[in-house]
Amino acid sequence: MSDLKLFNTLTREKEPFVPLQPGEVRMYSCGPTVYNHPHIGNLRTFLWSDLLRRYLEYRGLRVTQVMNITDVEDKIIRNANAAGQDIRTYTAPYVDAFHDSLAKLRIRKADHYPRATEYVTEMVALVQQLTSRGHTYEADGSTYFRVATLPDYGKLSRVEIDTSSEYSRIEADEYEKESARDFVLWKAKKDNEPSWQTPLGEGRPGWHLECSAMAMDLLGETFDIHTGAVDLIFPHHENEIAQSEGTTGKPFVRYWVHGEHLNIDAQKMSKSLGNIYTIREIEEMGYDALALRYALLSVPHRTKLNFTTQSLDDAKAALARIESFLLRLDDVAKSAPHDAAHADEGGDALIGKFLGEFQEAMDDDLNTAGALGALFTFIRDANSAIDAGRISASDAAGIQAALMKVDPVLDLFPARERNLDAEIEALIAARNAARKARNFAESDRLRNELDARGILLEDTPAGTRWRRK
Ligand code: AMP
Ligand code: ZN
Repeated sequence: MSDLKLFNTLTREKEPFVPLQPGEVRMYSCGPTVYNHPHIGNLRTFLWSDLLRRYLEYRGLRVTQVMNITDVEDKIIRNANAAGQDIRTYTAPYVDAFHDSLAKLRIRKADHYPRATEYVTEMVALVQQLTSRGHTYEADGSTYFRVATLPDYGKLSRVEIDTSSEYSRIEADEYEKESARDFVLWKAKKDNEPSWQTPLGEGRPGWHLECSAMAMDLLGETFDIHTGAVDLIFPHHENEIAQSEGTTGKPFVRYWVHGEHLNIDAQKMSKSLGNIYTIREIEEMGYDALALRYALLSVPHRTKLNFTTQSLDDAKAALARIESFLLRLDDVAKSAPHDAAHADEGGDALIGKFLGEFQEAMDDDLNTAGALGALFTFIRDANSAIDAGRISASDAAGIQAALMKVDPVLDLFPARERNLDAEIEALIAARNAARKARNFAESDRLRNELDARGILLEDTPAGTRWRRK
């Protein structure tokens, strides 16, 4: 197999991905700030982060993914005050809306969703360590990180430190993007703000601090992958590096993976611009979440995506083609003769080509456009082969098994429950075909896959029987 290559913002190069510990990947994704329903731009970012994790798993790696929930921040405090609620009560429905939107888009759950308000102790400890290493100073009850104490500050975003503004400090959670400045770690208490009584004084954490504290607590001082959209490169991720490496003296993250924005009329979709769509609004326009999933997936993460209803119509049409192909395959698997006239020219070559092209595309920095292109070429070629009577029932089962192999990555097949038994029968048929061809590596792989789906096989003289564990 070729290498999986990922574009690493730190080096500005596509690099072969090699995890720190063989077989295991630890990954952190910046999550939502819960003061509104997530819009489909946020969801685009969460979707490709999940896709990356799914593909790493496809490649046989075990992945631990952490995504934070920012539940204390300037806008949250402002809105909660306006609503006369505490921040826990105010954010609760938005935390639920976040999880609901992910589920609708078939984004799998991360292993941990730590919340900022539950990590105050760890954040305070981090600031204390930074202070003991000389990276901080205090002013008016707040604690700041002095960027000039870290010689390689700016290495991710490649911003220059503006030495003329040595004393210029920034305290807001919304930062300017141009110049590096001392940033706040711990904010002194203000009236009408939630606060914690800590050794740093009474106050609350700055926004950047939570990601360093949670990531290192749950994933270790150095871990493999950190994801987010490009707007987070500076200052958020630059400051995460400063806080973490300033504390440990070790590299914080090995691969920084950033995705481009979802735009609308060439402008970034954002809550502050008010040009947003939520998943509910997309559904009210008559599209289902799977069409949105397809539309978002069809553009690779490092390409800007201009959102249009045309892209949803195209997605709908593409999904319909997939569905009718699946139905046709079911028929062939049931009704075609077991050995079609020229079966050797049928399924195997098509399957090999498809899986090869799929992997090649995904290995190239998750080129989802290429991977979907491979899928539709496969469907077209298989349809012609069926038309020509070159696909036997066992070829059809093999094609179903190949589709099932990529399904855990793309997760685009409709009505998945409907054909669960047929999927299992198809995997068993593919395994028996592999055994017959003395391809024991493949038959073992399929047996393991069935095992992972909770299926027990029993080979009897009358054929293979199966039951659920
Ligand atoms: P927020 O809830 O604003 O903290 O954002 C959550 C995630 O969505 C972050 O990784 C942001 O960078 C990302 N994000 C925000 N706007 C967009 C957009 N228009 N397109 C893609 N990602 C976005
Ligand atoms: Zn973050």
